[in-house]
Amino acid sequence: MPATKAIIARDPRFTALNWALEDVAVSDAPGDNEVLVEMVASGVCHTDIVLSAVPPGQVGVLYPKVMGHEGSGYARKVGKNVTGVVEGDPVLLSFYSCGKCEQCEEKHPSYCDAFAKENYGGRKGHVTITNTNTSSTGNGNSGDGEEVYSRFFGQSSFARYSIVDGACIVNAKDLLQSDDELALFAPLGCGFQTGMGAIENVARPDANTVLVVLGLGSVGIAALMTAALHPHKAIIGVDRLPSRLELAKELGATHTIDTSPPGFNLNKALREIFPNGVSTVIDTTGAPPLIEDGLKSLRQRGKIVLIGVTPMQYELGVSVVQHINSGRAVIGCIEGDCIPSEAIPKLIQWYREGRFPIDKLISYFEAHDFKKALAGLDDGSVVKAVLKWKDV
Ligand SMILES: [Zn+2]
Ligand SMILES: [Zn+2]
Repeated sequence: MPATKAIIARDPRFTALNWALEDVAVSDAPGDNEVLVEMVASGVCHTDIVLSAVPPGQVGVLYPKVMGHEGSGYARKVGKNVTGVVEGDPVLLSFYSCGKCEQCEEKHPSYCDAFAKENYGGRKGHVTITNTNTSSTGNGNSGDGEEVYSRFFGQSSFARYSIVDGACIVNAKDLLQSDDELALFAPLGCGFQTGMGAIENVARPDANTVLVVLGLGSVGIAALMTAALHPHKAIIGVDRLPSRLELAKELGATHTIDTSPPGFNLNKALREIFPNGVSTVIDTTGAPPLIEDGLKSLRQRGKIVLIGVTPMQYELGVSVVQHINSGRAVIGCIEGDCIPSEAIPKLIQWYREGRFPIDKLISYFEAHDFKKALAGLDDGSVVKAVLKWKDV
């Protein structure tokens, strides 16, 4: 069992995140379908935060748990059924899918029957707390020998070592130009592919499209950069932070809208520019007022693509008659409906061509500084935080 460290998420007690870097032992005996990965880096995705703040049991989340689902590193031990990767290969990690259900067979693995259970719930059996001095962890309730849920999104990459399902692995051997790129490419496996896929696989804009991106975090910016690669009529970036609106302009937005003024109304603001409404709204905020206004702002045959997670109990009301007469569509979207083994190489290719400049979006933090990363994401100074695991 390698002695190592992991960020352990504990019961948030309904208030906030309860994360601390703790000493753990990770099994060095991956199952037949698993790989022991030595993590180099892991992006912090909003879902790590959202799913660490829910009460125990909601959407299958139980504590203590190792989050992290944008990992990169090296395969150190490979289970006998895992193909396409050998010991020592650099790997990029994405979500788990079973490969056998109807959705997987139809090449929509992010809608896999096992998605929620395996990716949100995870399993016990691979990680054990080994803190000898419980007061040093900062969260005050660590117990030596306590078993921890891992395999979050099949990978639990907020750890120096982790047992990862083979289905999560994209072999990066032929994708990298240097080892340093492992940290740069870590976030491709969730946030960036989600934004890209929302455009390529779901929204599918054309030259007449007026596209609106609500929320300019890493997913929204990835969607915007992808849309900018296609002919379009307009791309409108919407956020409350001036720095994000500036960034959106740099990366291809034709218009930006600031939501921060008191009494802001998105539908009104959009119709001032496009009185007939807009073609496509991509919501990455999960903010009900923006989603509702986004729906109202659609022109005939317009569509809204829902990516941002709303409060768990929230339901969006739709007037059926209006919906019929307008031909509008409301579409849910997870992981951009991507196949990671295809999406990740494509994004790397775009990066090399200068068309998807993720290096402008990433801020690096040592893993023990994860609180600084969270603060930067919270105040908007960081678009995508990537934690590095080498020196923990
Ligand atoms: Zn499946
Ligand atoms: Zn994610």
